[in-house]
Amino acid sequence: MRVKELFGTRGIRGPVATKVTPELMLRLGMALASHVDGGKVVVARDARTSSEMLCHAFIAGVLAGGCNVVDIGLAPSPCLAFTTRELSASAGAIITASHNPPPDNGIAFYRDDGMEFTDEDELALEELVLKKAPKRATWDSLGSVERYNAIPPYIEAIKKAVKVRRGFKVVVDCANGVASLVTPILLRELGCKVVTMNSHLDGHFPGRPAEPQPWNLGDLMRTVREVGADVGMAHDGDGDRIAVVDEQGNFIKHDALLALFAARAVRRKGDVVVTSINTSVAIEEVVAKAGGKTVRTALGDFHVAMLEHGAVFAGEPGKLVFKEFGPWADGVFTAAKLLELMSIERKPLSEIISFSVPDYPMYSQDFACPDEKKVEFMRSVRSYLLDHVGDVRDVLEIDGIRVNRRNGSWLLIRVSGTEPKARMVLEGRTAEEAEELKEIGLKAIKKFLGC
Ligand code: MG
Repeated sequence: MRVKELFGTRGIRGPVATKVTPELMLRLGMALASHVDGGKVVVARDARTSSEMLCHAFIAGVLAGGCNVVDIGLAPSPCLAFTTRELSASAGAIITASHNPPPDNGIAFYRDDGMEFTDEDELALEELVLKKAPKRATWDSLGSVERYNAIPPYIEAIKKAVKVRRGFKVVVDCANGVASLVTPILLRELGCKVVTMNSHLDGHFPGRPAEPQPWNLGDLMRTVREVGADVGMAHDGDGDRIAVVDEQGNFIKHDALLALFAARAVRRKGDVVVTSINTSVAIEEVVAKAGGKTVRTALGDFHVAMLEHGAVFAGEPGKLVFKEFGPWADGVFTAAKLLELMSIERKPLSEIISFSVPDYPMYSQDFACPDEKKVEFMRSVRSYLLDHVGDVRDVLEIDGIRVNRRNGSWLLIRVSGTEPKARMVLEGRTAEEAEELKEIGLKAIKKFLGC
């Protein structure tokens, strides 16, 4: 397959000053109108300081290409995906850089059914932007803009799809992003007492960096303990991701959350769950116990695999897709599903997790790896790992190399598709085994990258 130039793993992201400019947005708008060839496009934006400017440029492009626009304004990505499907639009687009730093922005595209654009879709769009001239409509066939308040129908649909049987005390941290407009309101309407933090819109991200990782969530963990909440929840800047903190203020590993929902999504023997190459073997184990099967994909490809395998559930760390609601990653819906699950289980969240999901020691580390070294590096790493890991059950090579041992432990080394980086991730059955795998990985990286 051709390599994408403009797009990263999914969507486009980068500094507004140099890459994600209004000029690019104008061309992308025209290109999208050519790509979908008519109908309407739903457009949303996140709360970054540059989003309004970029959104106007993008909308101008779509109109110039002859498509109509439904402008839903500030809204989370999953709300945009939902609205695109509900309004039978040709496509959806949101101006967002998700959890990137404040000077960045970007855009993500969704198909008519609410699934994110695939590599194929993105390559077709890229070709229109970079090489071909996108279609320009004549004066009498230009598009028009309609504004639509998409958040109330989205909240109503989630309320219909979940049943939270009792109220909880929840601390919600929206990273000053667009989930602020939805999650606190939804949870209150579900009967919860909601304590908000970082839940006013601010494109400077004054509260914390937008990536919902444990090292950014110290305030949330402390607040959950201080107010005696049942659970804490944190979003990224556009609300497709979620991270969860239990009632003791401890961060719940992203993979444990994935495993918890994956096992419950399996209803019939043989149901398929899709997850990315870099997640815990605990997912396979709990899914198998429930009678299901786990399929692994390259990072960013889980939507496509979900369709291919007719999966009941899919996810990457922090991004969960519930087939029953729609084929998009939805941090807001996940928040409601978690409360539903807690109301069924009637146990503290820490106990639900420790009872349902095995916890194995994991480790991950990034290393600088220049783009021009990546191919040679992976070739050398491959043979090194095959020679040194030992007791190999199988090897996955869909995205880097993941060597699985017979006992379930594994070591993955892959290179980033978007940054000059290599990453090692591993999981041992015991802390000693994790340490042993780490040493093997570090030796390979030192030998072939010199770091
Ligand atoms: Mg996001």
